[in-house]
Formats: sequence, C-alpha cells, structure tokens
Amino acid sequence: MRIQAACVESIGGPFIIRDLDLEGPGPGEVLVRIRAAGICHTDLSARQLWPRLPMVFGHEGAGTVEAVGAGVKNVGPGDNVCLSYRSCGTCDQCATGQTAYCSTGINALNASGTRPDGSTALSRDGAPVHGHFFSQSSFATYALAHERNCVKIGDLSPVLAAPLGCGVQTGAGTVLNVLRPEPGSVLAVFGAGSVGLSAAMAAVAVGCTVVAVDPAPARREAAQQLGATVIDPAAADVPAAIRDATDGGPHHALDTTGQSAVISQAIAALRQRGTLALVGIGKTAEFDVMTVMTKGLSLRGVIEGDAEPALFIPRLIELHQQGKLPLERIITEFPFTQIEAAAQASLAGEAIKPVLTFA
Ligand code: ZN
Repeated sequence: MRIQAACVESIGGPFIIRDLDLEGPGPGEVLVRIRAAGICHTDLSARQLWPRLPMVFGHEGAGTVEAVGAGVKNVGPGDNVCLSYRSCGTCDQCATGQTAYCSTGINALNASGTRPDGSTALSRDGAPVHGHFFSQSSFATYALAHERNCVKIGDLSPVLAAPLGCGVQTGAGTVLNVLRPEPGSVLAVFGAGSVGLSAAMAAVAVGCTVVAVDPAPARREAAQQLGATVIDPAAADVPAAIRDATDGGPHHALDTTGQSAVISQAIAALRQRGTLALVGIGKTAEFDVMTVMTKGLSLRGVIEGDAEPALFIPRLIELHQQGKLPLERIITEFPFTQIEAAAQASLAGEAIKPVLTFA
C-alpha cells in the first residue's frame, strides 16, 4: 500500500516526507494506521550516525490496527494500540519477564533497520527503504508492528498514549520497577526531558520529593509545575545545592544525560547507600571510585524502565486516569508535516515531548 513516511536520506540529514510503499503484514505482524507518534531523543541521535539509508525512524507510535498477519492473536482490526519495543518472548530473560534485556538483543529486533531476517517492508519506487525501527518506524501514516510490541489502549487519546511506549515507560518504569522509592524519600533527576519528567511524575505519585537539574529554562519550569525543586547547573555547585535542598542528599538519582560530568555530580550528591540509575545514552564516564565505595552506592543501568510493555503500559494508563501521571503537561502537538520543526523544538529544549499528529 502507498503511505507517507518521514525519511532520513543522509547521515545527520533532515526528515523529508516521501510517498513510500509498505508491504502487508507477514506472520506475527500488525498493520497500524498511525494517529500519533512521539519524537524521542533516540530518533534524533540515531539519525546523526545511522549508516543504512534511506531510513524511517519513529518508535513511539499509537493508532488503530488495520490488519493482522498469520498467527496474530492478541490484537485485531479496530483495536487502538500503542507501540513499544519488541522482545523475542522465548529467551531466558523474556521467560522471567525481563523483556528489556532480551537475549536476542535490542539490535536484532529493534535497531537493525530491517526485520530479523534482513528484509524490509518499505520501498520507494521499487528501491528498498530501511525501517522496522523498534519494530514499527512510526514516523509514517501506517506502520508494520509486531504482535509483541502492540499494547491495547482502549479509548485513551493516541496523543497521550504515544509516548507511553518508550520515554514515559523508561522514566516511570525506572522509578516504579527499579528504584521503588519509599514514600517520603528523595529522588534527584539529572536532565528534565521527557524521561526525567516521567520519572519525576512517578516519584511524586508514590509520595516522594523530587529535585530536578536541567540547564533549559522551559524544562526547569515544567519540572517545577510537577512539584519538583529545580536547580540550574550553570548557576550552582550542583552536588552542594542538591544536598542543601534535600537535607543531606537524595536517596535515589536518575541520570538521563549519559555525560561523565553529570554522572559524577549525581555520585557526589547521593546520600549513603543511595542508588544511581543510568538511563541516558553515553560512551565512557569517569567517577570517583572511593566515593562510590565509601558511601556504599549502587549504580544500575536500566533499559526501558525494566518494563514489560504488555503489563506496565496498562499500569501507566491507570495512573493517568487517577490523575497521577499528568502526561498532557509535557506534550506539545505538531502536525506530521511539521516533523522537522518538532525535532528542532525538541533539540532546543522548547518542546519536552513533541507528539506528531496525523490528519
Ligand atoms: Zn528475549
């Protein structure tokens, strides 16, 4: 079928909307008419270095199932779904519910640019176009997902549902599934983008105090509106300011930046026996081993908030319905045709969670 999709055609190049052809759903696959799609920093980082071009990104899609391939049982035509990451469902990690750490790997199922067998369902004038990003490539009017990464959302607005599949799940899941803070304890969030603010919302929802550190005024303001104390890293000795604001340091910290200097600030700020969750994409970090050792700190890498989407996304929807996850406060809508402007607004820190809408 003929679809419109935002293609990246050169490394670091802009999103360009093209007419493409999309194959119908194969075994296990689900054709989804996309109604909303969140832009995540992973899309914007990936387009800076992605070698297999042209490529269609997008991994926070939400929409309506149009058709399903052979063997699909959990969803059917007419179901409203949001799309998350895909896992194999059969390896040792998936068998114990740790689908974020699927042994088949994030790469093979989510970030190869093709199906696991090397094929792609997308083409332009007969020439292959890469896609299948997080088993969806949802910067498009239609996407081919897989039964394993579709989660039913009932009558929740697709604009609100879209970011549940990655950014919100990552932030809120890190708090609710990994850190599991006691009510009354303190969480410090480094980077108040959509992941950091989702963590802040979840922490507030379970009775915690939140301190958020971010250089962008718009993100600090959003954090403040969610109930956090905010710190401008350009204007303060960050660890000292956090300790002052938290009566001796936070019990938990979450780094979304992946930056060595920021990770060091988190380690310096944490109170004894605190935990630092690392969720930001980074390369190498240098930190003071003696501080980590003498304070008895724990460092924990986290993918997708340790969340199994089929179980965790319904929990997030419930929290939203209870008014405890005010997603609308971090979302800015853009029409799909304005995808590049939405990307630039995200990079500039003006839009925290841009969500594309489709006519
Ligand atoms: Zn697996």
